Amino acid sequence: MLSGNAARLDTPSTSPDEYVSAGHTPMMAQYLSVKAAHPDCLLFYRMGDFYELFMDDAVIASSVLDITLTKRGKTQGDDIAMCGVPFHSCEPYIARLIRAGHKVAICEQIETPEQAKKRGGSKALVQRDVIRIITPGTLIEDTLLTARANNFLAAFAEVGGLFGLAAADVSTGEFSVQTLSHDALLPALLRLDASECVASTQDIPSEILALPTISRLDASHFDSEAGRRSLTDLFGSSIEPHLSDLTRAEIAACGALIRYIGETQKGQFPHLLLPRRISGHSALEIDPSTMRSLELIRTQSGEKAGSLLSTLDMTITAGGARLLQARLLAPLRDAVAISRRYDEIEALISDFSAITDIRSGLRQLPDMERSLARLSLTRGGPRDLASLRDGLGVAISLRAHLSGKSLAAGALGAILEALDVRGGLDDFYNLLTTALTESPPLLARDGGFIAAGYDAELDHVRNLKGEARQHIAALQSRYIDQTGIDSLKITYNNILGYFIEVPAKRADKLMVRDGSSADNPFVHRQTMANAVRFTTPELAELERDILSASDKALALEDEFFTRFTRQALALADQISLIARALSELDVASANAQLAIDRSYCRPTITTGSDFHIEGGRHPVVEHSLSKSQIAFIPNDCALEHHQSLWLLTGPNMAGKSTFLRQNALIVIMAQAGFYVPARAAHIGIVDKVFSRVGASDDLARGQSTFMMEMVETSSILKNATAQSLVILDEIGRGTATYDGLSIAWATLEYLHNRIGCRGLFATHYHELTSLDRDLPHLDCYTMQIREWKGEVIFLHQVAPGTADRSYGIHVAQMAGLPEDVLARAEQVLELLESSKQNSAAMQIPLFHVQPVAPRNKKSSAVEDRLNEINPDQLSPREALELLYQLKKIGD
Ligand code: ATP
Repeated sequence: MLSGNAARLDTPSTSPDEYVSAGHTPMMAQYLSVKAAHPDCLLFYRMGDFYELFMDDAVIASSVLDITLTKRGKTQGDDIAMCGVPFHSCEPYIARLIRAGHKVAICEQIETPEQAKKRGGSKALVQRDVIRIITPGTLIEDTLLTARANNFLAAFAEVGGLFGLAAADVSTGEFSVQTLSHDALLPALLRLDASECVASTQDIPSEILALPTISRLDASHFDSEAGRRSLTDLFGSSIEPHLSDLTRAEIAACGALIRYIGETQKGQFPHLLLPRRISGHSALEIDPSTMRSLELIRTQSGEKAGSLLSTLDMTITAGGARLLQARLLAPLRDAVAISRRYDEIEALISDFSAITDIRSGLRQLPDMERSLARLSLTRGGPRDLASLRDGLGVAISLRAHLSGKSLAAGALGAILEALDVRGGLDDFYNLLTTALTESPPLLARDGGFIAAGYDAELDHVRNLKGEARQHIAALQSRYIDQTGIDSLKITYNNILGYFIEVPAKRADKLMVRDGSSADNPFVHRQTMANAVRFTTPELAELERDILSASDKALALEDEFFTRFTRQALALADQISLIARALSELDVASANAQLAIDRSYCRPTITTGSDFHIEGGRHPVVEHSLSKSQIAFIPNDCALEHHQSLWLLTGPNMAGKSTFLRQNALIVIMAQAGFYVPARAAHIGIVDKVFSRVGASDDLARGQSTFMMEMVETSSILKNATAQSLVILDEIGRGTATYDGLSIAWATLEYLHNRIGCRGLFATHYHELTSLDRDLPHLDCYTMQIREWKGEVIFLHQVAPGTADRSYGIHVAQMAGLPEDVLARAEQVLELLESSKQNSAAMQIPLFHVQPVAPRNKKSSAVEDRLNEINPDQLSPREALELLYQLKKIGD
């Protein structure tokens, strides 16, 4: 793992000559010299059709990739460990190494063997160097990325105690920057779900070191002057007006980020948009443990399925899915901006056909942002140009289709306006439409992507190729006539090129005449088991014509590709804005569809402290129950001024946790701009959501379950404000009853008296309900149940009041605990409960109570009667009578 490794990207290498003097072979000297400059990367060293890995790198890669570890000679007397992956199918291997937390440096030949010979004589080694470093945060290949999620690279820099945090998704061009306090840094990084974080080689906050991949860059790259230069080099004068808005820490972070991208891409630079500044208090804060406990993007067990995101995501496009996730992880605090998102959904709901049209139009949309990134790093191909063409085509047709509708004048006006393909982009679109074939190949070197009729010269060269092929067909007929061999044919393979093939038994005729005169032009090339192959001067000339026409055509197409790519990059900002508008349209229509399908309502967002949810539901539980046709029971929640804290008691399994979480999720969805699962919702903007639900431990970090619980509770009590929403589920349950109860008690008082936030507090400590008398804003609620014929029925309904029991033993019975254990538990419970009222009973140590005999199940009258009979002594008639008797007893 690279965590905490110094990435010494700019460490000077030791020269190959020094390694040769130390006794290494010239090739190993070259390898070691390149490797020394990239110590934290696995070096993929190109040799022919393979990337080879040596020494420690080979040991690591062979174990991660599960490939054979071999040896390649010795150096300095030691065996050289080696493993390799084929050049043409290296991506899946690289993907696995990256997923395992490694970085890969791609080392290629940077001169031809001829150039090497010219430079250093016949024994000169072809020069090799690293052309790219592949790291988790700088990926652009579709095969290495998840289409529907961003892949952020982050960098942070500290100036005067504040942190500038810059984040870029190299694969889409998004770039943002913000200033954060020390405590807010880690939550922000987790919200971004950054796959790599660049930090200074100097001290960094210890909690950051726990992130998956930390790459270190020399501290000199983290100052604001260097940052200013990097920004100006990258964006030119267009950054000037923005520089004054950025703090020194932000500029320094941007600079380090740009520097790192430059180092890994070895001089190439991806298309990045100007950095968007996120202002300090624009997002609803959700700390890491809240994100985990509310299962926003992954469940507690790390799965995507079952998370809030996977339940709500109805987007069609990859860009839309990325935007939806970003919104869910950074809900807003600005009521106007939130309402704008609701307006878009409302407008679409009122015109259902528009939703259908938009969604079917978006199904044709390729991932323009990722195509643009590949083109900007010269790793794109004709298919990426076609992706821009098709994406612009979708924008044009959707805009044309929707502009006649009232949507265009209303809430969706801004999005539709942004879809306008103009200002040179229209010409570019027309160009691509006429110049490219319908489905071009992935790589320019495959050719055949410029449409026929677009360029006269290319058409001419292609005709030459076609004509030469016709000549070959004519030549074949002529040779058949000439030789009298009907089975003679002219074919092609990659090794021989074009050749004449005849069956072996008829070849003698041509062999005899082998090239002996102008009448006998056949020259032997190859003898196979059943066939013999020949060529002729005429065929060789035709082949030359075909090859030169092919080369010429490829060169011409390549020129077009380069020219179109340059044009695309000049228009990259405009293309990105259109891609962004299409993603917004996708999110708006997906959320409208979601609201219709699941009966979600438009919340009312205020700047006050209201919190009134009518008929709220848990979006994930409701959705999963609906698959089994089970209805979710809605519940109200009103955390008004005079009852801002609810204390919820109730049996196990009654639905307390579900109720707590659903209210937190409704807030997050509402502020992210979604409709919510409720009949009505009035929510005063929340600044931070905190959720401490269930017990989890972090043994890897040496923290016990209870310690974790206390760390998280402490963070809530330190950071919550009067505007926050806090949900605490069974706090204190991880320790002895009285310790836990006391902590829960004090916490509840603190939330009520000091913080004054809105909150929901679920507990099995029924003693806490007495606080209701002393804390004026605390109200007690309970989950309702019904007892029927000794069974407990969960109604999942929240009502004012308190629970007197937890019915834990009942749940244990449902879970299948042995009868003996249940019986004993009931006995102990009885004793403990009586001890509360009767201090004398409390004196009886538990071990003095005789364990009960196994609970004898009481037999029924039917069973008693059956026990009395012996079936072997019954006649058929008596047996029938007995059946009638038994039936009577049963009734
Ligand atoms: P415990 O105290 O044991 O942790 P709990 O009271 O927190 O239990 P939950 O875990 O919230 O109970 O709910 C238990 C199960 O009840 C859920 O998995 C869900 O299937 C169901 N449930 C909860 N609330 C509802 C509801 N409102 N409508 C329908 N089913 C519900």
